[in-house]
Amino acid sequence: MTKIKVMDELLSNKIAAGEVVERPSSVVKELVENAIDAASTSIQIELVEAGLQKIEVTDNGDGMDREDAELAFSRHATSKLLTEHELFRIRSLGFRGEALASIAAVSKIWMQTSTGEGSGTQLTMEGGRSKNVQDGPLRKGTIIRVEQLLYNTPARLKHVKSIQTELGHSIDLINKLALSYPSIAFTLIHNGQTLLQTSGRGNLQQVAASIYGTGTVKQMIAFEAENEDFKITGLTSQPTVTRASKNYLTIFVNGRWIKHFGLNRAIEEAYHTFLPIGRYPITLLSITLDPLLSDVNVHPAKHQIRISKEKELELFVTKTLREVLRGKQDIPKMTVPK
Ligand code: ADP
Ligand code: MG
Repeated sequence: MTKIKVMDELLSNKIAAGEVVERPSSVVKELVENAIDAASTSIQIELVEAGLQKIEVTDNGDGMDREDAELAFSRHATSKLLTEHELFRIRSLGFRGEALASIAAVSKIWMQTSTGEGSGTQLTMEGGRSKNVQDGPLRKGTIIRVEQLLYNTPARLKHVKSIQTELGHSIDLINKLALSYPSIAFTLIHNGQTLLQTSGRGNLQQVAASIYGTGTVKQMIAFEAENEDFKITGLTSQPTVTRASKNYLTIFVNGRWIKHFGLNRAIEEAYHTFLPIGRYPITLLSITLDPLLSDVNVHPAKHQIRISKEKELELFVTKTLREVLRGKQDIPKMTVPK
């Protein structure tokens, strides 16, 4: 008699959820990234009790037809990646096809989605099991509601911190996504109160102003530089504006917010002689590169990436920011629209 058995999908999804769903903000991240990938121009995120009770994301993106709506919750089901060839050329934020399956395995889901054609779909799930599928409204886009997150994984639920801490993670995340996508109108609501609202008019300074305050953003310098491999753009604070934490160093690679020790250090290096020890600038650094030069398939949460020519990129960032700080770049006078 054999001892080895292939696990059923429900169990394997629950195990994968351990990596994908660390806390409420991980769910927010996956749902909002899906909305971005679906070409939405308006995304509303509503949280109750920091998302522990409810996370609802409403978008006006492409939506799904009935068949896709049901398939979306299966493991390894994705519309974004079909061949191995594509794995090295990823332009979307998602590609693993496991977020919805993982989230559904540890929560109760309600979803309405429609492509705007035929009929809309409304479905409910509980602990990864489909409960009900029926016709829904025809409004193009998707609403996904996740309730009672981690209700069936008590050990993980115990590790979730206070409402304030968890909410902090989600606010931070939405701020960063809004900064990365100024052309998308984001609204974040917590317990009925609007915490962030961006216009979606595509102005980075304006989004930054709604997050850091107009006064601060007026003291930030816009920069742009390009070499044969990388294009970098963004905003960085004058040395008079500093913060006590590196949390204000925000880096995007091809629109994806990433955490990258080497690039953080490259920014700090540029400010080396300008700032006292323990003080950091506010920097938004957006890097565009050929997806062939990066590997985002490092961890299921996808906030780490590997970059080829990493050292060259870091040097380029330091050099550019140094020139900006020394005033060598022709800096257009910045206006912050109201
Ligand atoms: P991935 O994003 O890696 O493809 P997910 O599990 O997050 O995997 O989503 C599975 C699929 O469901 C996506 O590839 C996409 O086709 C569809 N989907 C999920 N969310 C949305 C949405 N908000 N709008 C349109 N399609 C969506
Ligand atoms: Mg996804």
